[in-house]
Amino acid sequence: MPVINRIAALAPEMKEWRRWLHRHPELEFALPQTAAFVAERLREIGVDEIHEGIATSGIVALIKGREAGPTIGLRADMDALPIEELTGADYASEHPGKMHACGHDGHTTMLLGAAKYLAETRNFAGTVALLFQPAEEDGGGGEVMVKEGVMERFGITQVFGIHNAPNLPIGHFQTTQGPLMAAVDTAWVTVTGLGGHGATPHECIDPIPAITAMVGSLQTIVSRNLFPLDELVVSVTQIHVGSANNIIPESGWFCATIRSFTPEVRAMVEKRFHEIVEGTAAAFGVKVEIRYDRGYPPTVNDAEKARFAAEVAREISGAEAVCDDAGREMGAEDFSYMLEARPGAYLFLGIGPGAGLHHPAYDFNDEAAPIGASFFARLVERALPVG
Ligand SMILES: [Zn+2]
Ligand SMILES: [Zn+2]
Repeated sequence: MPVINRIAALAPEMKEWRRWLHRHPELEFALPQTAAFVAERLREIGVDEIHEGIATSGIVALIKGREAGPTIGLRADMDALPIEELTGADYASEHPGKMHACGHDGHTTMLLGAAKYLAETRNFAGTVALLFQPAEEDGGGGEVMVKEGVMERFGITQVFGIHNAPNLPIGHFQTTQGPLMAAVDTAWVTVTGLGGHGATPHECIDPIPAITAMVGSLQTIVSRNLFPLDELVVSVTQIHVGSANNIIPESGWFCATIRSFTPEVRAMVEKRFHEIVEGTAAAFGVKVEIRYDRGYPPTVNDAEKARFAAEVAREISGAEAVCDDAGREMGAEDFSYMLEARPGAYLFLGIGPGAGLHHPAYDFNDEAAPIGASFFARLVERALPVG
């Protein structure tokens, strides 16, 4: 069975929803127009309960099946990115400097499409909790929802989510039975020496050689401290120092993104980061301040739920289009907090060729929305069978 017939019939309406969302991108927790649009659609759809203002601008909506049973959580993120859009689409962003460049407009649309079908048919035993979350890109809206107690409050026993994947063929699903995406930590380092004239380095403490030595030595965490078969990324992503060709600057700063999977590697890299930066600072006679923030934990699928989700995906897209052993990637995702709270699975859904995620020319492919909606709908019907 490919896309559910009734959902295929909803495709034009879903395209309209998606394009409205695309024209009105909002950031982080500040999603007043997006949340109002979603709540309005949920009212039209006729879900049983709508709880607004969860994690500021998130929404939890409930649809009850024709028989009693457990509650399954389906999640969509709603936030956009601070990027100037370059798609040239006639439904391009109307909010300067903001854009749906990660396809969360598509994710929200898929979940609304599934909601419409599930509210019409109710062919399941239990309850569906639709989790529309803010602040996936930055701010950890998923964590806030979990901390606000949505899992307990709505009795959610399992959770599922989808992210679109450009350049994976349209309708193909990929997931993994276990760790899927990395933990992400961020470090900021400020280096202070003694500035002065570029012609008198001996009277200064130049922060530039200290910073370059730190950046170079940090590369040895992956090459020399890590067990060679483990995964780790240490990327210095910004260096800011200096203002003129004849001035030795007083200070500078750099930052890094650090991606890992296990608590052991995560602790090792944090310890080595401090040792290398502080030791190098001592050697060069500069002062350092390090801010090291732990961000999203790794995204870890429950093996059994991932297998089950892949079975459902095969029903929609065919066996050859689904891989449940796709391996890990070093991206991060705050659905990880929901998967820490409840067993479940996260899947990637191909949207075909096009610009990559977070690129100003990226655009969600509307043809993928009915596929994702059908997946969510069948997942509910199979996880919570009637009778
Ligand atoms: Zn993103
Ligand atoms: Zn995203």
